[in-house]
Amino acid sequence: MISSKQTGSVDLFRLIRAFLNHLRLHFRKPVPPANHRAWAEISLNALRHNAMLLQNILPGRCKLMAVVKANAYGHGDLLVAKALNQSGIRAFAVATLEEAIHLRVNGVLGEILILGYTNPKNIACLVRYRLTQTVFDQSYARALNAGGKKVNVHLKIDTGMHRLGLDYTDLSGMESIFRCKNLNVTGIFSHLCISDSLAEEAVSFTNTQIRRFYNVITCLERKGYDTGKIHIQSSYGILNCPDLSFDYARAGIVLYGVMSRNDRTRIQLDLRPVLSVKARIASVKEIKAGESVSYGKEFTAETNMRIATVTIGYADGIPTVYSRAGAHVLLHSERAPITGRICMDQLVIDVTHIAGVKPDDVVTLIGTDGAERIRCEEMAEKCGMITNELLSRLGSRLNRVLTG
Ligand SMILES: *Cc1c(COP(=O)(O)O)cnc(C)c1O
Repeated sequence: MISSKQTGSVDLFRLIRAFLNHLRLHFRKPVPPANHRAWAEISLNALRHNAMLLQNILPGRCKLMAVVKANAYGHGDLLVAKALNQSGIRAFAVATLEEAIHLRVNGVLGEILILGYTNPKNIACLVRYRLTQTVFDQSYARALNAGGKKVNVHLKIDTGMHRLGLDYTDLSGMESIFRCKNLNVTGIFSHLCISDSLAEEAVSFTNTQIRRFYNVITCLERKGYDTGKIHIQSSYGILNCPDLSFDYARAGIVLYGVMSRNDRTRIQLDLRPVLSVKARIASVKEIKAGESVSYGKEFTAETNMRIATVTIGYADGIPTVYSRAGAHVLLHSERAPITGRICMDQLVIDVTHIAGVKPDDVVTLIGTDGAERIRCEEMAEKCGMITNELLSRLGSRLNRVLTG
């Protein structure tokens, strides 16, 4: 017989144990599962290799500014920025205040330039985290200046793209910004809108933009203003206008070892893709001729076939349009077509021609498997995108895994 007194002490014991367990779950660092369902492999060696190649083709005084907006084009902003910090890179560009703060509070060193709009009400954050804000017109400059705190800014000049920036002819506007008491102008920059093209008209427009920018710099310097760090090139500007000698070059997509698409450029570098995307086989099954696969019955088997379900979908960043454009994955060093509509968390592939496929086998969506390779450029082209869009939309659910 168990007395009521005994039961009470057992309950108390259980209660204490549950409480300790609760504390443990809350205060211990969670251990993430290692055998991921779907993941992006990040090669920091490839990243460092690309950064070094780019830095080496830039003229002596020009430093690489690493563009790490949108979670470093899907690669993981902290992984990327910290590795680059270790390779000596001390300038970064992001799109938003939150992205900039995320880098700074996690220990990223050097200049962090916010390329886009920051609400002037958030000026205290700019100062507290030692960030540099882009100033792109007079009304924005006035609003920032009125914040009453001294903030570092780069002045953005519109040389023909007509997105952000003071018009290149608006010298008085620029001067009024230089005169703002609370704005410390530490740089001036512009953006090329068609430097990815080598067509005659495009090259001519790029040269016009560069000429307009030079002109602005010269005029401001003649009037005695210190223009600080000067920059205009992004990835294609570096590869197609390598002779320019400014203070920074803002490298985004090429830093990740990828071109926006399969373009020809004046300079070709041995860039190495930093990212691969992988997932696993969940299940293998046989279907008969005439049976269909996935939502909407978009794919119907013409013969009996073996199919496999893969643990990745559009929520992980694989666009649904991909399956309609003759998409493949790699499995056992072979290409396997994606069949039927890509779902949120899963997709289905045809493995009829591949022997020995079993659950847990690794599937490569971007990257190499044996002699086979699917480049990011290939996938982006089939999706009607540039790689910048494809990569920056990779899902937060993908684990980022370092591969050296
Ligand atoms: C995104 C961005 C870049 C980087 O562009 P890439 O083509 O990826 O190198 C550079 N400058 C500005 C202003 C940008 O918005």
